[in-house]
Amino acid sequence: MIKVTVWNEFYHEKNNEKVRAIYPQGIHQTIADFLKCDDITVRTATLEDEQCGLTQEVLDDTDVLIWWGHVRHNDVPDEIVNRVKESVLKGMGIICLHSAHHSKIFKSLMGTTCNLSWREDGDLERVWTINPAHPIAQGVGRYFELNGVETYAEPFGIPEPDEVVFMGWYEGGEVFRTGCTFHRGNGRIFYFQPGHETFPIFHNETVQTIIRNAVRWANPVLREDALICPQVTKVHNK
Ligand code: ZN
Repeated sequence: MIKVTVWNEFYHEKNNEKVRAIYPQGIHQTIADFLKCDDITVRTATLEDEQCGLTQEVLDDTDVLIWWGHVRHNDVPDEIVNRVKESVLKGMGIICLHSAHHSKIFKSLMGTTCNLSWREDGDLERVWTINPAHPIAQGVGRYFELNGVETYAEPFGIPEPDEVVFMGWYEGGEVFRTGCTFHRGNGRIFYFQPGHETFPIFHNETVQTIIRNAVRWANPVLREDALICPQVTKVHNK
């Protein structure tokens, strides 16, 4: 079983009627509900929980962490961010959704600004699969459309991704690297752009397929401290 923890700042759902109508139990619960299946178990954690719900014990028992945040990024203590980062470097997978591009954890893992441009006009987005052989793209098809999204536009201030799996095109003309993978230490990272809180993005079946694929892709192959380098022993005897 792959053990997933879905983390959400859980702020808009309690303070915005429109968001609450789409995600009455919170974005984290919607994601948890569609992820649960034969090979995936899910727990949730939010900003309100003690230690943001991300104790060492929880992280050690998490194969893949999913992160959604928007306006409360700075309320996540650095101590927690560092703990999550260490877990990723050891091998825990992490999936950063939508406005998590500016979360402390994503910026720390990227080492860059992660800045982008945006428009909240409810544009149609056509998400193109540009890496059809990638495990995260399976079952998606050549492209799919989301009729009503927040537009994110290039340039996106990330380091060169290891793989760009999806490219987004918006009816306003912008393009964006909508689905990107990175590796840091033993950990695998997937960034996925759709997921603005006032649109029912996480109810879309193709989006659900992509996130489920990403969980399986990010499931750790190796889970150990890659940072400690013991003294090398001689391989060959003279
Ligand atoms: Zn947004």
